[in-house]
Amino acid sequence: MPELPEVETIVRDLRKKIINQRIADVLIFLPRAVQGDPDIFVRILKGNRFSDISRRGKLLIFSLAKGADKLLIHLKMTGQLVYCHQGRLIAGGHSQADFDRHLPNRHTRAGFVFADHARLYFNDLRTFGYLRLASGQELARELDKKFGPEPLSRQFNAIYLARAAKDRKISIKGLLLDQKIVAGIGNIYADEALHAAGIFPGRAAGRVNARQMEKLVAASKRILRQAIKYRGTTFNNYVDADGQRGHFYQHLKVYNRADQPCLACGHLLRKTRIAGRGTAYCPACQH
Ligand SMILES: [Zn+2]
Repeated sequence: MPELPEVETIVRDLRKKIINQRIADVLIFLPRAVQGDPDIFVRILKGNRFSDISRRGKLLIFSLAKGADKLLIHLKMTGQLVYCHQGRLIAGGHSQADFDRHLPNRHTRAGFVFADHARLYFNDLRTFGYLRLASGQELARELDKKFGPEPLSRQFNAIYLARAAKDRKISIKGLLLDQKIVAGIGNIYADEALHAAGIFPGRAAGRVNARQMEKLVAASKRILRQAIKYRGTTFNNYVDADGQRGHFYQHLKVYNRADQPCLACGHLLRKTRIAGRGTAYCPACQH
């Protein structure tokens, strides 16, 4: 699943490409991928321009030059955004081993054609992702209700996290994955941060002490910053050649490394299920 660094990379890539380009056409291949009335969706977007792109947690927010609506795109489990221009592709989001570079393909749910003939496709294998128009007010309400602080903001600190964890029996990993607690951390970066902080992912959140919370918050920020620098773990990348992975893949210490030696202590890493998700951890370093 694309997490904060992957979505941030998409924002940065697309800002350079599609801002202020006139949207010549809007293509809908799977009407239910668009929440709300698809006709209104097309009417508002066609002929319009994206004036800015941002994100909150894993939610992409496209501001429009005309009208007060914003286009929201959530990639969920398997969403990808693929920008194509003059035979070159920039793909961001979920990696697929068999990424089909002929677009649109059977996983393409919607697309935008720009006046310069560039196209932006929304692909989604499992179809949990969505596109939706929302007024600024609706968006503000939703962000307020469903999104905790950004992990790289000052509001996300050890005191905040300890308060959120107080007396909670939920696992510390489950707490990090809860977007209402902190917005943008998913399975990969939760496992990495917990390993870096030496905390067993299944430990009850309420039993993580203040010193460990400090470590966990610092590790989360450091790892997310580094992952953004390396364009994420999935293939946020130019894929003129083969679908490439974001470079952070090479820096993962536990995620996807079960049964391999811990890079900190040499003990074999284990895989288990915590917070409903496959979880890799080191039984020697993490308590
Ligand atoms: Zn270890």
